[in-house]
Amino acid sequence: MTRISSISFALILLLFTFTGCQSESDTAATEADEAAETAEADEMQNVEWGYSGEGAPENWADISEDFAACDGQMQSPIDIPTGDNPEETSSISMSYEPAEGTLKDAGYVLQMDISGGTLTIDDKAYQLAQLHFHTPSEHTIDGTRYPAEVHLVHAADDGQLAVVGVMFEEGEENAALAEFWNNIPNIEEAGAVNFNAGSLLPDDRTAYTYSGSLTTPPCSEVVSWHVMETPVSISAEQLETLTNMHDDNERPIQPLNDRTVEVAEL
Ligand SMILES: [Zn+2]
Repeated sequence: MTRISSISFALILLLFTFTGCQSESDTAATEADEAAETAEADEMQNVEWGYSGEGAPENWADISEDFAACDGQMQSPIDIPTGDNPEETSSISMSYEPAEGTLKDAGYVLQMDISGGTLTIDDKAYQLAQLHFHTPSEHTIDGTRYPAEVHLVHAADDGQLAVVGVMFEEGEENAALAEFWNNIPNIEEAGAVNFNAGSLLPDDRTAYTYSGSLTTPPCSEVVSWHVMETPVSISAEQLETLTNMHDDNERPIQPLNDRTVEVAEL
């Protein structure tokens, strides 16, 4: 072996050893990455969903496999486009009567569990189950966001939902809310209230309808939405009662994608 070739041999050996070491450390790095990713996924499993921080809406789909629909194509809320909406082809009717309602703090919303309402879409009946409030509104209409929105949630026997959304604009005291608003600071002790959920609806029953989802996890795409065009009034004081309890509990606007917003008279 000449001197040069023995130097080359030593270099090749060194290079091989070095490359060998590096590939081992690459494997170790990949394993560490995978472990970190798994740990991150596990960590996300323990994150509670919410409206800010790690559990914020943009992470909902990663928090749990059960929340995968949050990344779906038919999500709510949306910005409702108006102007040339086609007429709703289904026949829709609604009826409400007084019933016993129970107020509760559902963790992220003020909610009233109540019956006494039926929304009928093409002979399929959806029964009122509860109503709850978001501040500010979740839907926007032509880009306009309102200070609050109530959702009247109706369920059919097959698990499909029909939700009626009503916007609030600040003004006169809302007489329907006034019937139970004084109970809010002590809702646990307040007991049942006799309430007609239909009294929250505006006189003009023009609604924008579209197919969407729950606006909270698991974001199931099972909701026939009916958002009233005309807002109802809420006083500054009533609004403050609501925002003091839960504020900024609105999911960001979701893409409309391949959906049409129709207009209907309910
Ligand atoms: Zn809601």
